Amino acid sequence: MADVESFKCKLVSYDEITKWCSDVADKIRDIGYMPEVVVGLTRGGWVPARILCDELFVKKLYAVKTEHWGVTANPDGNALLTQELITDVTGERVLVIDDITDTGASLKLAVDHVKQKNPAEVMSASLIHIERSEYVPDVYSYSISGNDWTWFIFPWNVHEDMRTILPKTLYEPKNNKEIQNAFIEQFQIEPSATLISKTLRDLERLGKVKENNGLWELQ
Ligand code: AMP
Repeated sequence: MADVESFKCKLVSYDEITKWCSDVADKIRDIGYMPEVVVGLTRGGWVPARILCDELFVKKLYAVKTEHWGVTANPDGNALLTQELITDVTGERVLVIDDITDTGASLKLAVDHVKQKNPAEVMSASLIHIERSEYVPDVYSYSISGNDWTWFIFPWNVHEDMRTILPKTLYEPKNNKEIQNAFIEQFQIEPSATLISKTLRDLERLGKVKENNGLWELQ
C-alpha cells in the first residue's frame, strides 16, 4: 500500500472564532491598549481583523498580504510580503492580527513592515499560538504545544482545505462512508456527509477525482 499521509486536524466553527476574538479583545483592553488602526494579514487574519475592529471600536481596517503555507499543511519556504500597507499610519496605534502563529514568520514579517511606517505603537495578536513559533505575539487567545501540532481548518477556508485533504484519503478507491472513516483515521476529524459530497463534486469539476460504481478514485 502507498504511504498514507496523516496529521491531526481540527474543524473550527464560527462560534469558536467569535469566542477567541472576544478573548483577544479582552486581553488587549486589559493591557490598556487602544488601537486606532487594525491591520489584518490576508487571507487568514482578515475575518479576525474585522471582528476585532467591531470589538475595539476601530474604524480603520487595512490589509497586508503575506504568503507562506501555499498548500494546506505544507510550508513552502520563506514567508513573503506580497502586498504592502498602502495607507499612512504615521503616529497611530496599530494592532496587527493573524489567525495563527505557527512558525510565526508571517506575523513577524508584517509587524516589522508596519513598524517601518512610523506608527506611534504596534501590538501584534493571533487567535491561536503554537509554542514552537519563533515569534510570540503580544496577545493570543490560547496556545498549544509544538508536540500537539494541529492543522486548524478555519471556517473561512473549509472548502479549500477539504479540497486539499480529501484526495489524501483516496490512496485506494472509496465510497463516501469509507472516505468519512478515512478522515477519522488519518486526520482525527469527522466532516459531515454533506461536506464530503460537496467536496467530491468540487474535485470532480476540477477533474481531480472521478466516480466509478459508487467508488471515488483520483484522476
Ligand atoms: P506562519 O507564518 O507559519 O505562522 O503561518 C502563516 C499562515 O499559514 C497562518 O496565518 C495561517 O493562515 C496558515 N497556517 C499556518 N499554520 C497553520 C495551522 N497549523 N493551521 C491552520 N493554518 C495554518
